[in-house]
Amino acid sequence: MQEKTQPFYIENGVLQGVCQIPSPNFNQRPEESEIQLIVIHNISLPPSQFGQGYIQQFFQNKLDWDANPYFQTIKGMEVSAHLLILRTGEVIQFVNFQDRAWHAGRSTYLGLPECNDYSIGIELEGSDDLPFEEAQYTSLVSVVHCLKQAYPKIQQHIAGHSDIAPVRKTDPGPYFNWLRFRALLNADS
Ligand SMILES: [Zn+2]
Repeated sequence: MQEKTQPFYIENGVLQGVCQIPSPNFNQRPEESEIQLIVIHNISLPPSQFGQGYIQQFFQNKLDWDANPYFQTIKGMEVSAHLLILRTGEVIQFVNFQDRAWHAGRSTYLGLPECNDYSIGIELEGSDDLPFEEAQYTSLVSVVHCLKQAYPKIQQHIAGHSDIAPVRKTDPGPYFNWLRFRALLNADS
C-alpha cells in the first residue's frame, strides 16, 4: 500500500519546509490545555490589498504605522497567528504550534472560553470582499491535514473567527467556501 505523501510535516511544533518569521507576540499555553481547534481568519494590509509584506511586518511589531493611513487604526496592536497563507499559497509560520499565538481575542468554542489557549490560528491573506485563491485552499488543506495528524484532538474542530467571536468578528468572511474546503479536506484524508 502506498501512503499519500503530504508536502508538510511538523517537528517540535515547527512546520517543516515553510518560511519561518518569528513573532514576539506569543506566550505559553496554560499547562492543562491541549491543542484541539483550528481557527481560520482573513487579513490584508491595507484591507483588500495584497502582497506588500505588511502583514509579516505587523506580526513582527515592525510595521511603519505612517506608511498608510489605515495603519493608524491598528497602531500599537500586538497580534500574531501561527500561520499565514499568502495569495500565492506560500505558507509562513510565525509562532510555534506549542506556543499560544494571539489571534482569537475574547472568544468561545463549544462553551470553552479563551480559544487562544487551545487553538491554532491560520490567517489567509484576503478580505471579506474577495474570493480566496485556489492555491490558498490547496495549502490550507495540506496544512490542516498535517495538523490533524500531529494534534489528533482537533478532529473536526475547525472554526472561523466569526464563529468563536460572532459579535466582534466577520472573518474569514462570506467568500471563504467552507463546503469546498471540507470536501477537499475529506478527499485528502
Ligand atoms: Zn480573525
